[in-house]
Amino acid sequence: MQETLIRCENVSFQYGEERDNLTALKNIDLEINRGEFVAILGHNGSGKSTLAKHFNAVLTPTNEGRVLVGGIDTKDEERVFEVRRQVGMVFQNPDNQIVATVVEEDVAFAPENLGVEPSEIRRRVDEALEAVGMSEYKKHAPHKLSGGQKQRVAIAGVLAMQSDCIVLDEPTAMLDPQGREQVISTIVKLAREQGKTVVLITHFMEEAALCDRVIVMNDGQILLDGTPKEVFSKRAELKSVGLSVPAVTELCAILNESGLDISPDIISEEECLKEVSRVLKG
Ligand code: ADP
Ligand code: MG
Repeated sequence: MQETLIRCENVSFQYGEERDNLTALKNIDLEINRGEFVAILGHNGSGKSTLAKHFNAVLTPTNEGRVLVGGIDTKDEERVFEVRRQVGMVFQNPDNQIVATVVEEDVAFAPENLGVEPSEIRRRVDEALEAVGMSEYKKHAPHKLSGGQKQRVAIAGVLAMQSDCIVLDEPTAMLDPQGREQVISTIVKLAREQGKTVVLITHFMEEAALCDRVIVMNDGQILLDGTPKEVFSKRAELKSVGLSVPAVTELCAILNESGLDISPDIISEEECLKEVSRVLKG
């Protein structure tokens, strides 16, 4: 049985006053189950960040609708901390997320604020730094780390809170390719090996292809929602809202259209390689 962790019911959100008419979300219905690994795609301004902020009660629906996290209505002010404990956030800019001058103190910050016992904090910090591959940097100064390392420390901070779900809002957007790779493999490990519920907002189609489910937003609404294969098979629809498909998907689709016997719904380099060698041998 799938258990729902986050449930959005007819969620609408408007910035500013009603008369400003800045509707960022329009009647969103969405369920995210425990253990799911979900990507959210969409061009700039499509409402991804606004939606993500609803997942841990940073924002709540302004007009209609409600959001339930583990069954708790995010508008219930007395239970906001329970919601935030369940869903942790990592943002785009690694520098804005550092609060301490030593890595391990930075990771300990949130659980300390939750009133967790010191011995338990020690254990959680070590475990979290281990999980993101940053144990050897625990005594280092965070501001001297690379962008990818800083983002992994930010992820460790969420892990130390023992959240069920981690929401990452374009965590690799400001990183170089090496930093991106470090952060993405850390995220994949959390989803695949630790069973965390992971919501990854990204601009990179290749990152979305690694997830179990891809949600595409456009103009404050959900345009597509399916497996990466289902979503990336809709090339024309994605193009019409300013998005692309992974480079291998584009390549294989073009080869397929030109008459080669190559499956058009390839989303990874490994699949592409298999298809191409099959055709070459055939
Ligand atoms: P995305 O994350 O997909 O780029 P956002 O959720 O940030 O999209 O923005 C959705 C819409 O809401 C956009 O039209 C954006 O201009 C608007 N918006 C975002 N933040 C604010 C804000 N603080 N005040 C007013 N409008 C905002
Ligand atoms: Mg955004």
